[in-house]
Amino acid sequence: MIASDLRSGVERLGDMIAAAKTIVPFTGAGISTECGIPDFRSPGGVWTRNRPIPFEEFVASQGARDEAWRRRFAMEDTFAAAKPGRGHRALASLYRAGKVPAVITQNIDNLHQNSGIAPDDVIELHGNTTYARCIGCGVTYQLDWVKQRFDADGAAPDCTVCAEPVKTATVSFGQAMPEDAMQRATELSQHCDLFIAIGSSLVVWPAAGFPMMAKNCGARLVIINREPTDQDDSADLVIRHDIGETLGPFVGN
Ligand code: NAD
Repeated sequence: MIASDLRSGVERLGDMIAAAKTIVPFTGAGISTECGIPDFRSPGGVWTRNRPIPFEEFVASQGARDEAWRRRFAMEDTFAAAKPGRGHRALASLYRAGKVPAVITQNIDNLHQNSGIAPDDVIELHGNTTYARCIGCGVTYQLDWVKQRFDADGAAPDCTVCAEPVKTATVSFGQAMPEDAMQRATELSQHCDLFIAIGSSLVVWPAAGFPMMAKNCGARLVIINREPTDQDDSADLVIRHDIGETLGPFVGN
C-alpha cells in the first residue's frame, strides 16, 4: 500500500514501529544524501559522472588503481564533513530503545557508526570507504598513509607486507561479498517482524534480496524511497517521500 501523503505515511509507520518487537532497517545511499553524500542513481548521482571501476580492472591495471584512488581523494572533503542525518539519528534512537538489534547497510560512509550504533551492530554489505585494506593479506591502512604514498610516488601504493594492491575497504562490482556480513544479514532478515528498506533503489544484488527474504519469513515490509522500486508491490507500506522528513519524527533522545 502506498501512503497517500507524508503525514498518513508517518502515522502508519509509527503504528507499525509501536507494534513491532524486532525491527531491522536496511539502508542505501538515499539515507545519506541529506548529509551531502551523493547517491548512485538519482539525477546528478555518482553514476551519471563516473562509470564504476570493476574489481577485475582494479586488480589488473595500475592505471585503474590510480584512477580509483584519485576519485576517492576527490570525495574526501565530502565524506569527512558528513554528519549523521535525521534518518541515521532516528534509527540510532530505535537501536537505543532496544527495538533495532542491528542495521544492515549497503552504505560505505560510516554514518551509522557515527550516529551511535556500535560498529559490531552495523552490518556492512559493501564494506567501508573510510579506511583501506590490502586485497591480498587483508591488513588495514589509514587513508592518510595511502594519500602520502600516492602524492610521493604519483601512483596507488601496494601493501608493505605482501606487495598486493591496497584498496578502500569497500566491495566493488565483481568482488566477493563478505561472508560474515551476508550471514548476519540473513539471520536478521529471517528473525524480525518489521523490515524497513530506506533509500535504496533495490537493484544491487545480492543485497536487494533481503527485503523479500524478510517478507517471506513473515515480517511486515516498509519501503521508504522517493522513487518507485521493483519491490513496492510486495510492501505492506510504501512511503515515497524524503527520508529526513519521514524519519525525523522518530528521532528521540
Ligand atoms: P542508489 O543510488 O541505487 O539508490 C538510492 C535511492 O535513494 C534512489 O532510488 C533515490 O531515489 C533515493 N533517495 C535519494 N535521496 C533520497 C531522500 N533524501 N529521500 C528519499 N529517497 C532518496 O543506492 P543503493 O540502492 O544504496 O545502491 C547503490 C550502491 O551505492 C550501494 O551498494 C552503496 O554501496 C553505494 N553507495 C553508497 C553511498 C554511501 O555510502 N553514502 C553513496 C553512493 C553509493
